[in-house]
Amino acid sequence: MREIEHVIAGKLVGGKADRYGEVLDPNTGATQARVPLAGEARVDEAVQAAKDAFPSWSKTNPQKRARVLFEFKRLLELNIQELAQLLSAEHGKVIADSIGDIQRGIDVVEFACGIPHLQKGEYTQDAGPGIDVYSMRKPLGVVAGITPFNFPAMIPCWMFSVAVACGNTFVLKPSEKDPTVPVRLVELFLEAGGPPGVLNCVHGDKVAVDRLLTHPDVKAVSFVGSSDIAQYVYATGTAHGKRVQAMGGAKNHGVILPDCNMEQTVNDVIGAAFGSAGERCMALPVVVAVGKETADRFVEKALVEAQNLRVGISTDGDAHYGPVVSAAHRQKIESYIQMGIDEGATLKLDGRGFKLQGNEEGFFIGPTLFDDVKPEMVSYQEEIFGPVLQVVRVNTLEEAAELATTHQYGNGAAIFTSSGKAAREFADQVEVGMVGVNVPIPVPVAYHTFGGWKRSAFGDVNQHGPEGVRFWTKIKTVTQRWPDGEVSDQAFVIPTME
Ligand code: NAD
Repeated sequence: MREIEHVIAGKLVGGKADRYGEVLDPNTGATQARVPLAGEARVDEAVQAAKDAFPSWSKTNPQKRARVLFEFKRLLELNIQELAQLLSAEHGKVIADSIGDIQRGIDVVEFACGIPHLQKGEYTQDAGPGIDVYSMRKPLGVVAGITPFNFPAMIPCWMFSVAVACGNTFVLKPSEKDPTVPVRLVELFLEAGGPPGVLNCVHGDKVAVDRLLTHPDVKAVSFVGSSDIAQYVYATGTAHGKRVQAMGGAKNHGVILPDCNMEQTVNDVIGAAFGSAGERCMALPVVVAVGKETADRFVEKALVEAQNLRVGISTDGDAHYGPVVSAAHRQKIESYIQMGIDEGATLKLDGRGFKLQGNEEGFFIGPTLFDDVKPEMVSYQEEIFGPVLQVVRVNTLEEAAELATTHQYGNGAAIFTSSGKAAREFADQVEVGMVGVNVPIPVPVAYHTFGGWKRSAFGDVNQHGPEGVRFWTKIKTVTQRWPDGEVSDQAFVIPTME
């Protein structure tokens, strides 16, 4: 069976591991590879490799670091088809969606190519008599990224491309469910001229994560995954003196007003709710329809569209979405559907028990639509992370905004309307980190910044964009003067610049 390897100090590292994880093929249900789960010693090796590489990389001038990233970007573009095939084979998302995943990663690499400009410091001449002040953004040292299964290309690129551009050296701990693409990313970075040890990849589970969170040489940790683990990572990492950003789960609300373009809105919502089998933190699994007529119109059209969706294997070019990542995850999604029924929501379309002909053992689940979902239902309050769309009916925009605002998660929200005033107020008031106005999946472009509120993110600095540079650097400020030979008086009070 194919065995996936770590990449440490520029080399693929295999050999015997104490523990292995299974990498499944979601299309068939078969095990396609095994992945070593690093113990503490293996993580320590990777951290040491990054530590050894740091002095030279952090002293490499920024335009030379940028040149590695430019070449890395070129190689990603050159290999995008191969990467997409690998990604779809382990994740289960359709090829076009995998290409989007990789392209979104490339966008952040492109942003990081601007590091000579982004990392420039500040300078004030004559801040006092003969005194100049300058500040610089220094890299932190060895840093780590821990990533989820659902974007195995984009999310590692969010983290490491900005971190290494800033002069840090990096240990990536990708999801053990789809580890092949992260390994390829590191190989391409090396091929692009990235020095060995600057970017390393160790596979593993909680054991590896805990070692990174407590290792004295790791200065910062970026995490993306589910909220309970994000909160644990934040608490443990910060307790060990590290800078931590930890992005968690989501339950994004799409508010539909009576004056929206209903046909366009239904198209947008269906794509955002069911694309990638709903396994996106910026999916739109909840619609809040304002007014009975709006809700009736939406549900009628959405039901037809959902019934027409084609579920297929990830290489089926006509499929709208593929299987979910594992049998266990499918089981979890199906149990939430049962919960919704038990809680009294109206099941309009049931995707449970879906079998794809010829791939009966694959982890498929059909599109599912609930109407009359109520805020007190647990199936509404929790993240399902599958192809399940829940419709909540309210009477006013205020009620709709209140639902998104008071929900435990606050990643994103969208509003569909032709009223600029309503959209402006909603965008201003709603308590989430990212808002779409007639845009169903408002993932910000790379040079802006990505991050949610409430239980969708722990820590207060976002991913990529200027916030990313801030997260991966620390500021040093120098106040200097060059006395011309006169000896000044001893000063016993705090100096002012007068
Ligand atoms: P997950 O939380 O199961 O795993 C994320 C990472 O944590 C993986 O690398 C995994 O190996 C590690 N991990 C798993 N169990 C652990 C434990 N007990 N202790 C320490 N580390 C552990 O998440 P997932 O299932 O891979 O990804 C889906 C989740 O990620 C969803 O909740 C989704 O909303 C969220 N997500 C959030 C964002 C965002 O930006 N907010 C983006 C993508 C995904």
